[in-house]
Amino acid sequence: MTDIRKYLEEHRDEMISLLSELVAVRSVQGEAEDGFPFGREPARALGMMLVKCREAGLEVENVDNYAGSADLGESPLLGILTHLDVVPEGTGWEGSPYALREENGNLIGRGAIDDKGPAVAALYAVKAIQATGRKLKNGVRLIFGTNEENGSADLAYYRTKRELPPLVFTPDGEYPVINGEKGMLRVYFSTYWGLSVDIRAGSVINAVPSVCELKSVFNAKAGCGVILNDDGSWAPMPDGYTNTETITGVSAHASTPEKGDNAITKMLESGIIACKPIEELKKLFPHGETDGRSCGLGFSDDISGKMTCVLSMLNAEKGRLRGGIDIRFPLDRTKAEISDIICGKLREAGFDIDSCEGVEPHYTDGGSDFVQSLLRAYTRVTGEEGKCISIGGGTYVHEIEGGVAFGTEFPGKDYHMHSVGEYMPVEELLLNAEIMAEAILEVCG
Ligand SMILES: [Zn+2]
Repeated sequence: MTDIRKYLEEHRDEMISLLSELVAVRSVQGEAEDGFPFGREPARALGMMLVKCREAGLEVENVDNYAGSADLGESPLLGILTHLDVVPEGTGWEGSPYALREENGNLIGRGAIDDKGPAVAALYAVKAIQATGRKLKNGVRLIFGTNEENGSADLAYYRTKRELPPLVFTPDGEYPVINGEKGMLRVYFSTYWGLSVDIRAGSVINAVPSVCELKSVFNAKAGCGVILNDDGSWAPMPDGYTNTETITGVSAHASTPEKGDNAITKMLESGIIACKPIEELKKLFPHGETDGRSCGLGFSDDISGKMTCVLSMLNAEKGRLRGGIDIRFPLDRTKAEISDIICGKLREAGFDIDSCEGVEPHYTDGGSDFVQSLLRAYTRVTGEEGKCISIGGGTYVHEIEGGVAFGTEFPGKDYHMHSVGEYMPVEELLLNAEIMAEAILEVCG
């Protein structure tokens, strides 16, 4: 056992108790107040963490409650970026999501894996280095953000006030190292809607919708209708009669649509509504297709694989049909290129483009000394092969040149991130700290 590992074993309970204190703060984005850009709770979690860092002898700074930092050593070469805000708990938890509990070796609570656990592991990686008397040639800075889950305005602000260290990784993704992130485009479109059918499907743009609801309201002035009685006879439809139909699919993240079953495209395919806009959408988004081929897209590259294109929102009411599309495109394409194609197709089909925004792809050279150092640290601690991977989602370092995601999720495991029962195994809390300590020594030692 290395002395780093020994230190972590000896401080296992302390690590769990710090995580438990942090999880107890419901650091979901709240109303902005003077001095609290994302509400009071994210700032409270940040303050709590900075106190612990100061107690550990690190040089701490709170940058206006947007983000904070803690340095070991002068002019840091390496930055480790984590965040202390969380997504709302949702419903269905057994016990309180904010009372960390240990069950079968797992620490369960909102933020355990995303990203309070990794923040605790980062602090203890630094503490282990201090305690074992290792000397670093270059400094290391822990950076704690408070707005990753809602657009990373924390990081944007921090960067206007302070310079980031030259090398940055975030343990807010997956192992071994994520060095490629697809580009993203979100398109909102609309058109006139003349039917007395309301459509409601998809509440967020970055998820494959699992439910599509149709509500038809009968207006006696507009025409005549009949309904089928239980006994098989027909009766005239009363004015204001409503009929609701629900089409169900399977939800998935929009960057991995093949794992889901899109309720909107299922509805389009069913033929339940026949009118021009629906027919046009059916042609552009055939059920089961996830790469946008029919929209003239369907690109792929060797590193990031196939692109994705998901019709994730569709709403019709008050004479307007509105839709939303989430696109993740390969590293070798640009936002402008993809946007021209998709917006062109939609306009041709008779839709207005309401907005079309996104980000370019992110790529860091996997052969760089920095990435190779991280991979060596990973392999040394876990015995597993270190390699770079590319994903469809964007991580916290998407806008940071040369940045990569390094952990915290191990390949092939599901930690229920953002959902009910989010957890981190106790063993992995230690393992993450150990990998991060080795990484710091590799890069800064
Ligand atoms: Zn996160």
